[in-house]
Order: sequence, then C-alpha cells, then structure tokens
Amino acid sequence: MSPRFLAILNLFYPLRCAACGKDLAYDSPSRICAPCLASIQEIPPHPRPAFVRSSLRYEGTAKDLIHKFKYSGKDYLAGSFAPYLKRVWLQDDEMKTADVIACVPSHPARLRDRGFNPSVALAREFAQAVEKPYIPALERVRNTPSQTELGREERARNMEGAFRVIDPAIIRGKRTLLVDDVCTTGSTLSECARTLRRAGSGEVFALTLALQNLV
Ligand SMILES: [Zn+2]
Repeated sequence: MSPRFLAILNLFYPLRCAACGKDLAYDSPSRICAPCLASIQEIPPHPRPAFVRSSLRYEGTAKDLIHKFKYSGKDYLAGSFAPYLKRVWLQDDEMKTADVIACVPSHPARLRDRGFNPSVALAREFAQAVEKPYIPALERVRNTPSQTELGREERARNMEGAFRVIDPAIIRGKRTLLVDDVCTTGSTLSECARTLRRAGSGEVFALTLALQNLV
C-alpha cells in the first residue's frame, strides 16, 4: 500500500499502541509506542540453571501486553514478541542447536473460546525468525484445572498425563525447543518435555516470553 493511502486509512482507523492505546504514526514500525517499548524489562543474560530460559519479566507493560495477546485477540503481537525470544536464543549456544520448534498446546475447549492459540502463534513467529521448522508436536489430552491457586508440587501433579505426542516419527531423535508465553513454576514445560522424551525426542529445551516469579 502506498504511504499516502496508509495515511488516509489512518484517519479512519488510527493505529494505536497495543499497550497504552495512544495513537501511533501511520508508518510506525511497531504496534507498541516508544515509551511502552522502553518500559519492557528484559531479563539480562544469565547462566541457565534449568532447561528453561525466559526473555522478559512478567510485570508492567510486558504483563499487560501478554494478557492482551492471550485474551483480547491481539494475535499480531506475536510479531512484536518474537525478537525478544530471538535475542535469548542468539545468546544460548545449546538452545541454538535445536532441530525443531514446538509449543505447549492449549486444550481444544479453550481454543474454541479464544479462537486462536497464542503459543502456536508465538512459536510459529519465532520459528520463522530463527529459520527453524515449527512442528505441531504435542496435543493436550486432558483439560487441567487452573493452576493459579496451586503450589509447586500440586502443579506438577496437576499436569501429569496432560499431553500426548501427535506423531512420534516427526520428533524422534530431534533436539526440540518448546516455546510458551509465561513460565511460572515450569511444571507445564517439564511435563511437555517428559512427554516428548518418552516418545523418543532428543534433548528438550524451553524458551518462554516471560518469567513470573512466584512469591
Ligand atoms: Zn504505548
């Protein structure tokens, strides 16, 4: 579309910042305004203690944007999030050896409510950014009760047997990177990783957009 046409279109349908709602210039390269972008807190590079790494702190603007991404249908935000994931990926020599990108699946019932699967959107966008194949590796076979009220051990029990590998042949021997939006205790990611390894995958890593610290 020509810049002139975009400028006219913007009079009727102004682009607004996905976080604060302020008007954006019609040719803004981002769907998030500069002050909101500046307020997003990245987690500095650190030695990875477990198999999970995360890009952002789950607070402030990042928390607000992720919430809108998941529950308000702002699926285009996957494109704004992918560069944050990519920055962590570029710093992690082990993670970079992954053969395929997969994600934590939503239960079909939740998918129907929402119309799209945020973690699939995120994983696809990220896979494209790092030029690795995205594969639909897992499906959820059991809808788990909400985790928000549960402690660490209860969460792990709650997730047992919740996932299934769709086609073991496509993950056999593959080093797999699981992508998800928020990591809380890592129990969901651990269960996904266990399920993949049991079905014959190679090493499994996980990368989440944000890390929520339980207090
Ligand atoms: Zn803003």
